[in-house]
Amino acid sequence: MGKQHILVVGAGPVGVIASLACAQCGFKVTLVEAGSRIDDSPRAATTHSSTLEMIDSVGLVDQFTREGLVARYFDFWDQPSRKQVARFDHDLLRDETKFPYVVQTEQHKLARMGIEKLKTYADVRVSFETALQTLAQTDSSVTAEVSCNGETETITADYVIAADGGRSTVRKLLGIAFEGMTWPERFVVITVLDDLEALLGCSYRNYLAAPRDWGNLFKVAGDDGKGRWRIVYPSSGEGSDDEDLADTPVFERLQRVYPLEGGYDIVHRNIYRVHQRVAATFRQGRVFLAGDSAHVNNPIGGLGLNSGIHDAMEVADMLSNVSRGTEDAAVFDRYDRRRRALNIEFVQQQTIANKKRLEERDETARQAALDELRATVDDPVRHKQFLMRSSLLDSVRKSKAIQ
Ligand SMILES: Cc1cc2nc3c(=O)[nH]c(=O)nc-3n(C[C@H](O)[C@H](O)[C@H](O)COP(=O)(O)OP(=O)(O)OC[C@H]3O[C@@H](n4cnc5c(N)ncnc54)[C@H](O)[C@@H]3O)c2cc1C
Repeated sequence: MGKQHILVVGAGPVGVIASLACAQCGFKVTLVEAGSRIDDSPRAATTHSSTLEMIDSVGLVDQFTREGLVARYFDFWDQPSRKQVARFDHDLLRDETKFPYVVQTEQHKLARMGIEKLKTYADVRVSFETALQTLAQTDSSVTAEVSCNGETETITADYVIAADGGRSTVRKLLGIAFEGMTWPERFVVITVLDDLEALLGCSYRNYLAAPRDWGNLFKVAGDDGKGRWRIVYPSSGEGSDDEDLADTPVFERLQRVYPLEGGYDIVHRNIYRVHQRVAATFRQGRVFLAGDSAHVNNPIGGLGLNSGIHDAMEVADMLSNVSRGTEDAAVFDRYDRRRRALNIEFVQQQTIANKKRLEERDETARQAALDELRATVDDPVRHKQFLMRSSLLDSVRKSKAIQ
């Protein structure tokens, strides 16, 4: 009997890692990507301990770490007074994980290095400019039509992993609802070359709490490895995207982060809508949703992509166990039960709470939240508990309990 065939839709970081994990489990893999190349717009960069363990298991962690920045700490700041409130130290996790830190590596680098590694597997085909159009399934296979350069090709596979992002064609074709809400404000992302660590004395990852000027601030290596800073903050809520990205509001906002004589050296600006949504089911028959096709959330805490990579590893492991006969196909339902519940508990609830903590306007509640952060870092037990949750190590440990 030939190898079982997995069709992976979407060469974002989740689809690429799912493809690699499936290839390493001995499957034949076809990865189709609608775009002509890996999307390199500034998006996720924060990769937590639990996810680094998974990137290690597919053999990419050394390169991934080399191409990024190791961040031992993350800081909370009271933005109006520009005072540091609390510094969390991942080193407290050293007995729990091989990777007691975060690595800040841009998501397109992970996708690109995964694509390079996929080339070393004979039974893997990667097709860019190839978009999935239709999907039909029976009890034993899935048939998809994909379009490439105006031609339609039919691909038959044993299973499909849909990693085709928040607007997932697969999820829509299957009629799976994307339940949740969209935040009224959009998120502005500005990238600057100025060294905010030197200016502010901050770490590589910072959360800024303020009634008006809340947001976050973090450093990435950049493709040239020279380092750059991203500042993420809510839109004014009044203007259009173009108005929010215009020079005057952007420069004024940056000056409120830190007043820099001569202004900032901006290299990129973007604005995007943010949602908290979870698919009504992560599985239908032989099709599994993974990453943003299954769940989306606000970026505070850097959890969305991490959770997507956890989906990818879980689905590859499950398909491998079923194909080798060590588990029964009944575990397919467990994928939905487990990954959906963990996303709601550790990603949706957490990112909503993270946002609320930063944007609190009531002064008494705001000070209470900041005092709570101070008390948490001052207590070694609570400090570690906070990190176990924020790094998704708790989510991985809890996953086995969900059968
Ligand atoms: C500004 C910003 C900052 C963020 N920061 C963080 C962070 O710090 N940490 C974190 O964990 N998350 C973060 N996120 C979220 C993170 O970027 C996403 O969770 C991540 O991109 C999801 O990866 P994915 O592979 O599931 O989907 P995507 O990266 O969206 O990839 C989907 C791919 O599918 C392709 N595709 C779509 N339709 C089809 C089709 N029909 N056929 C074939 N291919 C198709 C698309 O072209 C795309 O390449 C951030 C997001 C944004 C916007």
